[in-house]
Amino acid sequence: MPGIPCPGSVRFRLTFWYVVTLAVILTASGTYWYWTLSRNLLGQVDAMLMMVAKDVIAFHLAESQRNNPEEACQKLESFIREHNWSEFVQFVDQHGDIVCHTSNLLNARLPISAEALRSARGHQPFFETVRFNDDRPVRLLTFPLGSDSHHRDVVQVAEDLGPLYKTLRVHRWQLSIYSPLLLLVLSIGGWFVTGRALSPVRHITGTVKRISAENLSERLPVNSCRDEVSELQETFNSMLTRLEEAFTKIRQFSADASHELRTPLAILRGETEVALRWAKSPEELRTTLESNLEEIDRMSRIIEELLALAKSEAGEIPLALTDVNLNDLMQDLYLQGKTLSEPKGIEFTLHMEVNREIRLSGDQLQLHRMLLNLISNAVKYTPEGGRVAIHLASDGGQARIQIIDTGFGIAAEHLPHLFDRFYRIDEARNRDIGGSGLGLAIVKWIVEAHGGHIEVASEPNRGSTFTVTLPLTGPSPKKKKLS
Ligand code: ADP
Repeated sequence: MPGIPCPGSVRFRLTFWYVVTLAVILTASGTYWYWTLSRNLLGQVDAMLMMVAKDVIAFHLAESQRNNPEEACQKLESFIREHNWSEFVQFVDQHGDIVCHTSNLLNARLPISAEALRSARGHQPFFETVRFNDDRPVRLLTFPLGSDSHHRDVVQVAEDLGPLYKTLRVHRWQLSIYSPLLLLVLSIGGWFVTGRALSPVRHITGTVKRISAENLSERLPVNSCRDEVSELQETFNSMLTRLEEAFTKIRQFSADASHELRTPLAILRGETEVALRWAKSPEELRTTLESNLEEIDRMSRIIEELLALAKSEAGEIPLALTDVNLNDLMQDLYLQGKTLSEPKGIEFTLHMEVNREIRLSGDQLQLHRMLLNLISNAVKYTPEGGRVAIHLASDGGQARIQIIDTGFGIAAEHLPHLFDRFYRIDEARNRDIGGSGLGLAIVKWIVEAHGGHIEVASEPNRGSTFTVTLPLTGPSPKKKKLS
């Protein structure tokens, strides 16, 4: 399924979010920095105004006692010039009239708001930013002249905020030029960095695209340092290994299946040709037809077993779970096993090592099929006059069934492959016996579908023991199919 198209490549989206995050950080930090700067500058102006106000008041009070108000006012002018202060100063009496002001105010007057007057008369300094005289921004301090309550005169000291605003304007301008520039440089850097970081992914994609069923042995080179990319490479490699194994098994299986079917077909064809050419009497034709029927039976058995295995692999054989009485099942199998072993003179025995009924939840038919397979193998691969014994025991919550024979046995090197499809030990002997090599694969499927397991112990020329262990509770819910 194609899925929802993503806007842009991963590289683009990574860079985009990186740039957005940077832009937010730059804007936030720039704003904070600008706000702190303007607060600090204004704080410095306020401190200066306060100092000037205090000095001016001390000087004015001292001069007012010695001189008349006009002379005190003139001396104030020279006091301010002496200190090189550029502040504007004016005195306002209790009626709100200006009694004295510095010459730098010319004809203009500092504005006095009712709020400033109220605060100063309450002996609280009051700072405000106002515009006066041609809309000029100034910082204005209104300060009480005396500390006692009957003193209602105030002094106002103001400083031109033009230079401060200019400094702030320069900083604003620098911020608005340098921040986008910085953002641009960092974005270009981000684009290259993400490109480099994603290049191993592009490399992996290229290699994976090249790999098909024909070259599944190819592997991705794994980075020497351990990181997310090397983990991805290893994961791909282990997936390829599993795929390769699966493909090899499928190939092997198809080759084996066609080989198995080709042999009886070749025999059929050969015998039919010989009969057509040479057979003269009806007896001779009958013998050929009988032999042909045997081969046809053999082919049908192989095809049926293959079908059963394929279905069980696809999970298409549901287990018909019932309450199975293993004691009864073993009795049935004993009778069948006895019939099978009689023609070969094999001694067939049943050993019930339980003193109660063993019941389990399982598929009666499949369990019967599985055990009969093991019994018929034991009989098939045991020479005349040998012994085959079947045992039933119960061990905790499990039933244990053993099929023990004194037959040809199996060499240790064959044991790991015994349950593989078409695995047969002795081709020649098997052909005589008529085995297909699929029986034990089916046995394993059935045992595992019931949540159990199968083991084999064997010694060449001494015999084999197949042990099947089945849980009495039956298969777990997800194993209720033969898969
Ligand atoms: P087959 O149809 O050939 O018997 P199986 O899958 O049942 O196929 O068995 C696989 C091979 O395992 C057989 O060909 C045989 O060589 C070996 N085998 C199975 N059971 C026994 C046994 N009881 N004793 C010795 N060999 C056995």
